[in-house]
Amino acid sequence: MAPKRAPQCPSCRRAVLLREENPCFPFCSDRCKAIDLGRWLGGEYRIPVVNAEDDDGGAGSWSDQRNGSAPPEAPLTDA
Ligand SMILES: [Zn+2]
Repeated sequence: MAPKRAPQCPSCRRAVLLREENPCFPFCSDRCKAIDLGRWLGGEYRIPVVNAEDDDGGAGSWSDQRNGSAPPEAPLTDA
């Protein structure tokens, strides 16, 4: 028996005002709109980034490469 016009915020599931009174429709607020957008841009797309984190071991050796590539001791001994 729920009224047909009772949209829910896709972000927080709270009741959302109708489009006429709610510039953030179909979200309840501008914040939820941003949250949902962030979920798409940050959350969903972050899944492959977690995979990249598995590659962090390689990133560690990359840091080692950086250290050996530029030894800061040479100018230090000069001074
Ligand atoms: Zn909301």
